[in-house]
Amino acid sequence: MIGIYLFNLSLDFKQVFENCKSWGIKWILTLPHIYNQNNFQNTAKKYGIKICIIFSIYHDKEYLEKNPDDYAITSSGRKAIHDWLHFACQTSTKYIEIKKKHLEELLKQSQPDMIAIDFIRFYVFWEEVYPDDLFEEIEDGCYCTRCINQFQHSYGIKIENKNPQWIKKNYLEQWTNWKCSVIEEIVKIFTTIIRNHSHNLPIMIKTVPWKNDDYNGAIQSIAGQNILKLKDYIDIISPMTYSHMIKRKPNYIHDITEELNEMSSKKVIPCIQIEKTYLDDDISIQEFEEMLKYGVKKPSHGILLFHYQYLEKDEKKRNLVKNLV
Ligand SMILES: [Zn+2]
Repeated sequence: MIGIYLFNLSLDFKQVFENCKSWGIKWILTLPHIYNQNNFQNTAKKYGIKICIIFSIYHDKEYLEKNPDDYAITSSGRKAIHDWLHFACQTSTKYIEIKKKHLEELLKQSQPDMIAIDFIRFYVFWEEVYPDDLFEEIEDGCYCTRCINQFQHSYGIKIENKNPQWIKKNYLEQWTNWKCSVIEEIVKIFTTIIRNHSHNLPIMIKTVPWKNDDYNGAIQSIAGQNILKLKDYIDIISPMTYSHMIKRKPNYIHDITEELNEMSSKKVIPCIQIEKTYLDDDISIQEFEEMLKYGVKKPSHGILLFHYQYLEKDEKKRNLVKNLV
């Protein structure tokens, strides 16, 4: 599967589909409001382009700005907002009920070829976590009163000190298990809705680009994503392996893909970035070529390119993608 992300509503969709077809890209991953545009679905079908709708669970700027009580609280004691990312608390039942309704409505009015559940984890801005960072330095969430109370209740413990660092230092194992079980329950809820709607619709889950042991096992203790617990609910795992962004070498893409495949026996399709993000240095043609090479290396089942407009404006990188097909 070679797919590409499409986030811009104002593009000429016919042109987009035509281009993707000529580049050998058969899958587009896009957001509900783009998918629901007039003729988007029908035109995609006409061009033989398959569509994966990305459904965001905990990131919802529009909702959270109107309902600020539902923001997650980070280990720095602030609302979980970073740049474009607005993150909800993992234990707000009000928030989850609304998201369930959104997903049910979306499934009723659309016939995508795949659903990707995204932002299904605890808060962390992994995009700016680098190889030399320490576990203790990573800002995470949620540490709101409700989350801490639910944690205490689940383990029958009483925490004297509600300081996030103290909790992670003294109860790391329980805290990690609790976070992973919260995310597992949420994955179960949302995948059940999808399976009930259409049993054969493939479900992809997006995961943070960390190996199981990176930063002291932060994929579990920070993000709450335990692949062994989540694998049976989903069909495809897509790690957001934007290696350049997180200052890793391209082979890191393959390392994560291989580890996820070994742990889950599921199809793994890593994400590849086309252009620099957050950092100043560009992604050279050579580096991009390496990223593609490691991206498609077995046991990978393909790649997802981030994103359409970056590839449209870069002929050299486009030609490398064309050569993959
Ligand atoms: Zn919370």
